[in-house]
Amino acid sequence: MADYHPRVEVRVIDDEKGKGLFALSKFNKGDVIFEERPLVCAQFLWNQAYGYLACDYCMRPLETAEENVRRLTDMPDLVLPYPECCATRKDECVECPYCEVSYCSYSCREQAWEQYHQVLCTSSSVGNTRHPLDQLQDAWRKMHYPPETASIMLIARMIATVKQAKDKGGAAHLFSQFCHKTRSKNGDISHKLLGKQFQAQVEHLRQLIIKGLQDEDLLQWFTADGFRSLIALVGTNGQGIGTSAFGVWVKNCDSLDLSPEEQDKLNIFIRSLYEQIEKESLSSFESDEDFVHCISSSEDDSSDEEGFSSVRQCCKIDLSSPTPSRFSFIGDVGMKACVTIISDPLEYFELFLTDEILNHIVTETNIFAAENLNKFKSKGHSRTHHWSETNANELRVFFATLILQGLITKPTVRMFWS
Ligand SMILES: [Zn+2]
Ligand SMILES: [Zn+2]
Repeated sequence: MADYHPRVEVRVIDDEKGKGLFALSKFNKGDVIFEERPLVCAQFLWNQAYGYLACDYCMRPLETAEENVRRLTDMPDLVLPYPECCATRKDECVECPYCEVSYCSYSCREQAWEQYHQVLCTSSSVGNTRHPLDQLQDAWRKMHYPPETASIMLIARMIATVKQAKDKGGAAHLFSQFCHKTRSKNGDISHKLLGKQFQAQVEHLRQLIIKGLQDEDLLQWFTADGFRSLIALVGTNGQGIGTSAFGVWVKNCDSLDLSPEEQDKLNIFIRSLYEQIEKESLSSFESDEDFVHCISSSEDDSSDEEGFSSVRQCCKIDLSSPTPSRFSFIGDVGMKACVTIISDPLEYFELFLTDEILNHIVTETNIFAAENLNKFKSKGHSRTHHWSETNANELRVFFATLILQGLITKPTVRMFWS
């Protein structure tokens, strides 16, 4: 299944954790340690509902960087320079000829069709009734709000993969190698995914899965216990990844050969776009009523209750569901630092308190001092008369002293600074 570097080894850790990857030698920053194709993957359903277009098989973005950023900033005329930095190839996109699902290439469409899409293609829907798999997605969206950590379609794709396989036993075995305990040290896994009323919700999802995908040879996955262990499998082994066409464009812009002035101009432009995206995602959330489950205040709409009702109307939040996310996330998730080459605890600390942050504090402190120190009516012996501009090294000593105060006790605070 997986191609991995000979300098690592897969070992079984224990029943709870399952398999883990162990380094057999040191790595350099940027080394590819492990590359693996997912057995199944699926776009988060809210992410899809927001209009993020992705290949239904490999999740590659299908919008161009320009379309992506136009949508996110709500600036339909925006023109993105350096189009060569956009990685989306629109001319290669294809659709399933039977349903509306899109792919980045013929190859992805073919592979999806061969693996699971024959079973999952929703073109067979008759009349006005929604296809059971569409109902399943609606139900999941109502139970699992952003920030999303899993999709019920992973389970649908697992089942469909086995249903379509020539060797069903072998295909089912592939999935059975993963951890699928319904409980971990941190509690019930389906509970964590679905919130408090998980029992009724799991049962509702199971009924919809049975309606859409029941299979004689796979009855063990459709029982109440079997289905919960599938949810646990997805909850334990699933992994969220995120890319956006605009994010890829920004990254690719790094390798452009630009003059310092052009680089500055581009940086300012990119920053202004990110600011606009943030502003836009806030305002679209405020107006998007569909997104939040409503609490109806109609039952007790008596005049005495008027004040209460109006309050309830302006904060329509479903208390039974996890808090919905307010931002469309467009960054690249995951660790940005290579921790395998770090040996000194100080280096970890510096990942958080970077030079950039320190310099920012230095600049702002000095500006504040210049603007305000002479406004204070300081006494003759005040320390403010001895003020001189601070610098990053002085700040490092300051933070170190603060941290040490937690470890070393002295009779008075003043003694730490003597
Ligand atoms: Zn693809
Ligand atoms: Zn289809």
